Amino acid sequence: MYIDVKNILHELNEEIELLKSKVSHEPKLISLVVEPDPSTLSYLKTQKKTTKKYGVNLEIIESHNLEEDLNYYNEDKSVDGIFVSRPLPKRYSELDIARNINPKKDVEGVSFFNIGSMYYEEELFVPCTAEAVVKIIEENTKIQGKNVVVVGRSTTVGKPVAILLLKRGRDATVTVAHSKTIDLNEITQKADILVVAIGRANYIKQNFVKEGATIIDVGINVVDGKIVGDVSSEVVEKCEVTPVPGGVGSVTSLILIRNVFRAAINNSI
Ligand code: NDP
Repeated sequence: MYIDVKNILHELNEEIELLKSKVSHEPKLISLVVEPDPSTLSYLKTQKKTTKKYGVNLEIIESHNLEEDLNYYNEDKSVDGIFVSRPLPKRYSELDIARNINPKKDVEGVSFFNIGSMYYEEELFVPCTAEAVVKIIEENTKIQGKNVVVVGRSTTVGKPVAILLLKRGRDATVTVAHSKTIDLNEITQKADILVVAIGRANYIKQNFVKEGATIIDVGINVVDGKIVGDVSSEVVEKCEVTPVPGGVGSVTSLILIRNVFRAAINNSI
């Protein structure tokens, strides 16, 4: 069965409408793109359409010097939010974003400050995709005491998902797997909740999952011009799975927009 994210999108829409009524200017969001690839462009195309619909002005800017551009837009008062598109070329790492982006404009929640605040109760901006994953899980199943396996340990998805699910109040027992994990399917078969964020099309097959598990497919892969997830379609016969597209990505987009409005409110104070 596929997981429906309609209710979450509805709630986020209501929150955005409320925030919108408190902002007197059209929020401006900058997306810096270094050497764009097809899946990045596909994601940004969707983002631009979505942001326009919500009254956010998204400018996509090709960056040739990330540090310089971040410093520039950090100081530009007309800019409310900034995010950097992934994947990054080899000469850059997540660290270049984390250390250079202004936390108040860091609507994706990837700066040192925002990542650090995730460990505490006072969060400013949490990594958007990780927040989307947690929201979907919370809406669909009880988390407390469950075995959660997160496949993928990136700074923007896998690790923050694990930290958020470990937090007091959520109380999951979390295992994080990655490309060096041995016998991955033996670990994933034990998961009551499985989060997959690896970027490998249709990698998780039926023999990786437990019957009845809740599966969050974060992957966005382009195969023969079509977007597919990391979880193979036949897994829906055994488990509840988020669709790709129309699952985590849709929730992430709205969280990003909500964060832009929050940043715009802070920027106008
Ligand atoms: P990264 O490439 O940064 O990280 C991938 C992670 O997966 C790494 O930790 C890697 O391990 C692990 N991995 C790769 N191959 C395997 C394997 N065969 N078995 C186990 N682990 C493996 O990717 P991201 O976290 O940024 O993104 C993951 C996916 O999610 C991508 O498809 C991306 O497009 C998508 N995405 C979707 C979003 C959405 O809103 N829906 C937002 C962000 C990303 P190691 O650390 O050892 O290399």
